[in-house]
Amino acid sequence: MGAGGSVNKYVYEFTEGNKDLKDLLGGKGANLAEMTNLGLPVPPGFTITTEACKAYLATGEEPEGLPEQIADSLARLESSMGKRLGDPSDPLLVSVRSGAKFSMPGMMETVLNVGLNDRSVDGLAQQSGNERFAWDSYRRLIQMFGKTVCDVPGEEFEHALEEAKKAKQATSDLDLDASDLRQLVDVFKTLFAKHTGREFPQEPRDQLDLAIRAVFESWNADRAVLYRRQERIPADLGTAVNVVAMVFGNLGSDSGTGVAFTRDPATGAPGVYGDYLANAQGEDVVAGIRNTVPLQDLERLDKASYDELMSIMARLEGHYRDLCDIEFTIERGKLWMLQTRVGKRTAAAAFIIASQLVDEGLIDLDEALQRVNGAQLAQLTFPRFDLSGEPEALAKGIAASPGAAYGKAVFDSARAAEVAAGGEPVILVRRETNPDDLPGMIAAQGILTSRGGKTSHAAVVARGMGKTCVCGADDLEVDVVSGKFTVDGRTVDEGDVISIDGTSGCVYLGEVPVRPSLVVRYFEGDVSPDDDALVAAVHRLVTHADAARRLRVRANADTGEDAARARRFGAEGIGLCRTEHMFLGDRRELVERLILARTDEERQAALDGLMPLQRADFVEIFQAMDGLPVTVRLIDPPLHEFLPALEDLAVRVAVAHERGEDAGKDEALLAAVRRMHEQNPMLGLRGVRLGLVIPGLFAMQVRAIAEAAAECARQGGTPRPEIMVPLVGAVQELETVRAEAERIVAEAGVSGIPIGTMIEVPRAALTADQIAEAADFFSFGTNDLTQMGWGFSRDDVEGAFFPRYLELGIFGVSPFESIDRDGIGRLVRIAVDEGRTARPDLKIGVCGEHGGDPESVHFFEDAGLDYVSCSPFRVPVARLEAGRAAVHSDGSDSR
Ligand code: PEP
Ligand code: MG
Repeated sequence: MGAGGSVNKYVYEFTEGNKDLKDLLGGKGANLAEMTNLGLPVPPGFTITTEACKAYLATGEEPEGLPEQIADSLARLESSMGKRLGDPSDPLLVSVRSGAKFSMPGMMETVLNVGLNDRSVDGLAQQSGNERFAWDSYRRLIQMFGKTVCDVPGEEFEHALEEAKKAKQATSDLDLDASDLRQLVDVFKTLFAKHTGREFPQEPRDQLDLAIRAVFESWNADRAVLYRRQERIPADLGTAVNVVAMVFGNLGSDSGTGVAFTRDPATGAPGVYGDYLANAQGEDVVAGIRNTVPLQDLERLDKASYDELMSIMARLEGHYRDLCDIEFTIERGKLWMLQTRVGKRTAAAAFIIASQLVDEGLIDLDEALQRVNGAQLAQLTFPRFDLSGEPEALAKGIAASPGAAYGKAVFDSARAAEVAAGGEPVILVRRETNPDDLPGMIAAQGILTSRGGKTSHAAVVARGMGKTCVCGADDLEVDVVSGKFTVDGRTVDEGDVISIDGTSGCVYLGEVPVRPSLVVRYFEGDVSPDDDALVAAVHRLVTHADAARRLRVRANADTGEDAARARRFGAEGIGLCRTEHMFLGDRRELVERLILARTDEERQAALDGLMPLQRADFVEIFQAMDGLPVTVRLIDPPLHEFLPALEDLAVRVAVAHERGEDAGKDEALLAAVRRMHEQNPMLGLRGVRLGLVIPGLFAMQVRAIAEAAAECARQGGTPRPEIMVPLVGAVQELETVRAEAERIVAEAGVSGIPIGTMIEVPRAALTADQIAEAADFFSFGTNDLTQMGWGFSRDDVEGAFFPRYLELGIFGVSPFESIDRDGIGRLVRIAVDEGRTARPDLKIGVCGEHGGDPESVHFFEDAGLDYVSCSPFRVPVARLEAGRAAVHSDGSDSR
C-alpha cells in the first residue's frame, strides 16, 4: 500500500514513461516510452515496474492492485489495436519481455506470441492469410512458454524440431509447411504435458500472468545472478516487464527483423552497421539459425522501410546524443521499432565516438569525459595478444598486471637475468616472488606465479614496472628446483616458450603474437595526436581532464628511469618512493653486515657504506622530478627479507659441515635469520619500528635525502623532497623519528623538507588528530590499511579464498583492488576530518594501489584528498578519472 492507503502504481503505459525512468521501468521500458513520445513507430504496450517485481520476489505473490492494473492496461491496449487478447477470430498477441535498469543480455526471459491457443491459431491464420505463419507462431509460443515458464528442457523441443526437419529432409525451418508445423504443435503439446503434468494453458490471460511471473523470477536465475556479480550490478534492482503488442517479421518475404548500430561499435567509425534477416522473428537473428545479410541490403529489398529506418536512427542519435543500438521488425512493409538503447562499444570506439560527438556539436567536452573511463583507457595502453591463431591455453590465474608477454619459461631470478642478457625474452615463473627476485623480474618480459593475489609482491612490483603479470595460477605445480612446472599432466621445462595475458589471466603454450599499443607510444612522446584518430581522441579527453581536475596525480616510482617515465606520463611528482630496492643487489652485503654487526662501530660502518649509494639514487630521482615534490618513504619491510632464505642457508651450512669446511658467515647469517624469524612479518618488525629499534638506520636515509637535495640545489636544480615515515600507529613514534630527522636535515644545511607519515595502520587513522600535530602531510597506505582493517594477509588471501568470497557476493571486487568505501573508506574519512581539524594546512594523498583504481579515484575526490599516487603506467588513467570525478556532479551512473 502506498501512502494514505492508496495502491501503488505498478503499470505504466508507454506514453507515460521516459528515458530517465530506468530505475522504475528498466532500460527497455524507459526507452520504448521515449521512442513512443518521439512519435516513432513503436507497437503499443505497457511496462510493469521493477517495484512490482521486487514486491513479487519478496512475497511470492503479485502485489495488491497489480492484476487489476494489468487488466486496465490490457483493455486499453486491446482498444487501441482493435483486437482482443486471444480472440478466436482475430487475436491480439503480445510479447512479454524482461528489461532491467542495466542491460543483462540474454540473462533473463522473454515469451513471444502470448494469446495463441487451439482456437485463436485459426483466427490468426485467417487474418494473416498465412496458415504456415500461424502454426509457426503457435509452436514458438509453446516452445518458449514451456521452457521459460514451466522449465521444460529446451533441448527436447529442439530435438523434436530437428526430427521434423529430418523427416522432410529439410535444412531450414522455412522448409516446414503448415501441416508439418501443425503436427509439431501436437508433439510440443505432448512434451509440455509430459513434463508439467498438465495441458498447455489455453486461457490467454493465464498465459500472460504466468509469463509475467516467469520474467520476474528470471531475475534470480543462476546465470542472471552470476552475470550481476561479474558486472557489479546490484542484486536488489529487480526487472521490469514489458508487455507489447506483437508485430511479425515472419509473415513472408516482405517481412523481417534486424539489429543495428548508429556507428561502428568496434571502431567508432561513422555510418550505420547492422544485420537483417528476412521472414524471421526476433530470436532468429541472435540464434543464428540462418545467415543474416548486411543491413545495407535492406535498401534493395525494401527501400521505403530502409529510408525510414535511416532517418529514425539519425533522429535517435541526435536525441540520445550517443551511439544507439536498435532492434526493429518489418511487418509486411511496415517498420516497427522494438528497442533502442545507448549501445555498448569497445574502448577505442568509446574515445573516438566521444570526440566525434563533440565535433558534431552534440555534446561538450565535460560530457565527453563521462562517455569514457579509466578502465577503457587502461585497456588501450596494454599490448594485446592476437588470439586468431587459437593458441593452446594451459591455465588461468589472476590478471594482476595487464599486458601480453611471451618468452622462455625460467624458474630462477639469476638465470632469468642471464637468459635475458643473451637477448632472449623470458617469463619468470615462481611459486611467489620476493625482493630477491627483482633482478629476474626486471629482466623478464612477464611474471607468472602460482600463488598470491593482486597485491602480492609479484603483482605490485610488476604493475609498478608496467610489466605483464599473472599471479595465483594455482593449477600450476611449480618446481623451481628442477626448473619446470606441470599443469594437467603436461610439463613445461625451462626454455619452453609460454605466453601470459595479464589482462585476462590466461597462460598459453608457445609464442602468441603481440600487437603494441599506440596509446602508450603517445604518452611516451613517440606518436603525435596528428598521426592517429584514436590517439587524437585520447589526447583531447585526457587534456580536458587535466584542465578539469582538482586532484593532483603523482606516481609511485623508485628509480630515476621510472620517475622520468612517470613525468612523461603526466605525473606531478612522486607520491611514494619505496627505498627498499636500494638495499638489494651488491648492497646486500652491506645490509648483511648491518644485521650481523656486534658493535656500534661495525653497524655504523655498514650504514656509512650504504649512505653514498642511497644519496646517488636520490640525486637521480630528484633530477628526474626537478621542481616537483618527491615523497621518499623510509625503509619499510622487515630486514630479514634482505637475507637469504632460511632453507638455503641451512643447506649451505649443512653441506659445509659435511665437507668439514668452515661455514663462517653463512652460519652467522643462519643464526640471524632464525633469531629474526617472525610468525607474522607483516605485523612485525617493519616500518617505523625498524627506525626506532635499529640505531642509525633512518638517520642514514634522512642524511642521504638531505645531502642529495643539497647537491641537486648546488647544481642549479629545485629538488623538493618530502620524508615519509611508514607504519606509524601512535604519534609518539612519529615524534621520535621526526626529532631526529629534523636534527639531521638541519646538520646537512637544508631547510623546508616536509616530514609526514603514512596512514596505514587503523590506529593511525583513528588518532589522526594527534598524529597531525607531528605530521606535515598524510599519505594513505591503503594496501596495509586494507590488510589490517580487514585482517586479510595481502599476500595470501586473494589466491586462497577471495574467489569464494566473490562468488558469495561478500564483496563485488577485491578490497585490495578497489577501496572498500564503507569500512576502509570510513577510516580514510575519519583521518581526513580529524587531521584537517587539527591542522588545516595538512596535505593529504594516497599511495596504496587504490590510487590508480578508477572507482577509488572518485572516492578520494569525494573524500577531499589533495592527490592520488599510482604506478607510472596508471598515471594517465588517474588523470582521466580525476577529471571525470571533478565534472561528475549529477550523480548519474556512467556505467
Ligand atoms: C600501502 O600499504 O598502501 C603502501 C603504499 O605501502 P606498501 O604497499 O609498500 O606496504
Ligand atoms: Mg604499506
